Order: sequence, then structure tokens, then C-alpha cells
Amino acid sequence: MIDIRWKAALFICALSIVSVFLWLISSLVTALVVFALGLLLYLVNHIRWIHQLNNWLKTPDIRQVPEGSGLWEDVYSSLLKYERSNTLKQTELNSALERFQIVANAIPDGLVILSAANTIEWCTSHAEYQLGLDLKTDKNLPIVNLLRSSHFIAYLYNEVYDEPFKLKDVKSTESTLEIWLIPLATKQKLLISRDVTQIEKVDAMRRDFIANVSHELRTPLTVVGGFIETLSDMEGAIPSNIRSYFGMMQDQTTRMRRLIEDLLTLSHIESNTQAPDNNPINMSMLMNMLLNDANALSQGKHKITAQTNPHFDLTGAVDELQSALGNLVSNAIRYTPEGGEINISWQLHHNQGVFSVSDNGIGIDQQHIHRLTERFYRVDRGRSRETGGTGLGLSIVKHILTRHQAKLEITSELGVGSTFSAVFPKARIIQK
Ligand code: ADP
Repeated sequence: MIDIRWKAALFICALSIVSVFLWLISSLVTALVVFALGLLLYLVNHIRWIHQLNNWLKTPDIRQVPEGSGLWEDVYSSLLKYERSNTLKQTELNSALERFQIVANAIPDGLVILSAANTIEWCTSHAEYQLGLDLKTDKNLPIVNLLRSSHFIAYLYNEVYDEPFKLKDVKSTESTLEIWLIPLATKQKLLISRDVTQIEKVDAMRRDFIANVSHELRTPLTVVGGFIETLSDMEGAIPSNIRSYFGMMQDQTTRMRRLIEDLLTLSHIESNTQAPDNNPINMSMLMNMLLNDANALSQGKHKITAQTNPHFDLTGAVDELQSALGNLVSNAIRYTPEGGEINISWQLHHNQGVFSVSDNGIGIDQQHIHRLTERFYRVDRGRSRETGGTGLGLSIVKHILTRHQAKLEITSELGVGSTFSAVFPKARIIQK
């Protein structure tokens, strides 16, 4: 670098000396003309190199970097170094991208990247196949234009992505996909699709089996129960020493009937792929009904209170929600000893509708809480049976709430009490 600067300085010095010499031996005009011509030559030389640089920058190619001279030699060698490292980085980047695409396309699940505005930015070949997309033509199109299921649209816009969502009949009436949306830090979303058609078929067989068995058992059980009831009611038909056995038979048939009804309800809800009704539900009325039912069930053994925010209602299937919320209330009564307190409330928290039932009953140890919604999971089988439980109540509640995009939240402390809350998304709340 110093050499090059010196070369330029030497040229100017030599030109100046020659010009001064010419001034002394000839005239000032001759000296100035020679000095100007020298500078012009110097300038033309630089312009030539600038022109060459400009041409090269239009289509940079490291195999054809102009050689340059003087200061330009240094510029071109820096450019060459820069372009070489750039090309190397580009090659590394390209091969990393290629490796990523090979791996992404080898994953059997489909992957789609959605922009903040829910348009398709990129997807794998499995996603193209499963969702019927074509990246070449569908890039930058809104995903809702291509996946038009109203369930999917509700799932996308509700922005509650804790659970995957089942998308049926995307391409054929047989297929079922499990869709999972994962928000990314860049406000984009990663959509993962998994083909669960086979798992769904097995699950449907299980549900059908339970539903069929329950149906088949219901009729003989009704007959047996009917006979037991008739015989029990007939004066003198049963000797007094075996009358207590008839009482036990009656209790057991009632328990079995309740179990069968719950199994049928559960399999009906599970196999129902239709979205629930979306009717406005008058929450003040529903809360009153729940309070009346609670008082009837408790028969004055508990202190039951209710708080209702009258400014907000809910949309959904009233019969399903009444059964789910009623189940939470009846559990609170069944698992709260006489003299206990139960509070039912409907409030708005952070734009979500929250229905809660709190009790100061027996409470639940932490280790059981995450399993309570499993079928037949009971903390204390004896107590559940004594109070007429089937172990299916919270399973039914969870399914009904999931159908309404709501969540069941449980907090409890053993010996202190429990709070069961159904949290409904903003989209289901109506302001009155
Ligand atoms: P069950 O018919 O046995 O009540 P559920 O599915 O309704 O079945 O409830 C599952 C289990 O959760 C119950 O067996 C009980 O152990 C526990 N549970 C439910 N609600 C309460 C509550 N409010 N307080 C204490 N335990 C509860």
C-alpha cells in the first residue's frame, strides 16, 4: 500500500520537477502545458480502471478479475479476496440449505412455514402431498384459500395451539390429518401435518365396539332392572330374609345403567365430528339452573353460592355445556363433606370466559391432577362408587370443552379443596 502511494507521489513529484525545469529553460506556458498533460494522462489512466471496475461489478466473476496496476492492483486484489470468501460462504450456505431440504423432505410429516399474515412461504413435498398444495403455484397465497375447512379456519384464528387439530377429508373422504401449529419467534408459524388415518380407523373401531357393547347391554339390563323393581314393589313376593339382597341388586343395576349411559355419551361425543351448535347461551339463566340443581343434589348439606357477570354470554351447544358444567358442580358436591362450601362463578379474565367451581372439600394430591380426565381414572374408587360416580365424568367434560375450543384447568390441594375452571376463548364470548 505504501509502495503504491509512493508511486503516485513520485509521479507527481517527477512531473512537477520536469515542469519547473521547463519553466526555467523555456517558458511558463510550456511548463504548465506539460504539467496539465501529465495530470490528464494520470486522470485518464484512473478513469480507464474505474470503467473496468464498473464493467466487472456488473457480472462479478472471480476467474476474470482485471489485474490493474498501481493503486488499482491493490483494489482488485482486495476485491478478489472478498469475492472468493463470498463465493465460499455462498457454496457452504447452498449445501447447508440443500442438506436441510433433503432432511425436511425425508420427514414423513408435512411441514409448512406460514408468514405472519398466514400466507404460505415454504413447504415440504409431504405437505404438498397431504394438504394438496403445490409450492410453485401456491407460494404467497393465504393458507385459508387452500384449506377451506371451517374447523381449520377457526383453529388458525383462535390462536390457541396447545393441542393438535384433526382435519378430515382433505383430499379423500377416508383421510384424517393431525395439524399442529407452532408460533415462531419471527411471528411466522410452523404448520406440521401428520397422516393419522390408520390410527383414527383403529380408534373408530374401539369407539364403535364400546358403543355397540353398551347398546347391547342396555336392553337386557333394563329388563333385569325392571323385574327387580317390580318384584321389590310386590307385597309378599320376596321373603323378608332376602329382601336386602334385592336392594343390593337394584343398586348395582342402577350403577351399571349409569355406567352404560356415560359410555354411550362419551362415544357419541368422541365420534361426533360436527362442530357443536353455536347458539347464544344466556349465562345468567344457565348459572341459575346450575345453582338450583346443585341445591337439589346437596339437599341443604352444603353452603352453595354463585357469582355471575351479567354482561357476558357464551356461544355453543347449550345441552352439552349444561351437562359439562353441571358435572363439575356435582363433583364438587360429591367430594365435599357435609357443611362444606361451594362457589360457582362466571367471569371474564383477560378476554376469556371463565366458569369456575371451587370447593373446600377433600382436595386432590398433585400427582393425580394431570390424569383426572382419563377414562375411569379415580383417586379414590370407593368414594367415587359410594357417591354414584362412574369415573367417566371428567372425560366427558374434557371432550365437550375441547369441542368448544375451551380448556379445563384444575387446581387443588389435598384436604383443602379444589377449583375446576372451564376457560372459553374470546371468540365464544358475547358482550351484552
Ligand atoms: P367420578 O365419577 O369418579 O367422580 P370423574 O371423572 O367425574 O369421575 O372424576 C374423576 C376423579 O376426580 C374422581 O374420582 C375424584 O377422585 C376426582 N375429583 C373430581 N372432582 C373432584 C372434586 N371436586 N374434589 C375432589 N376430587 C375430585
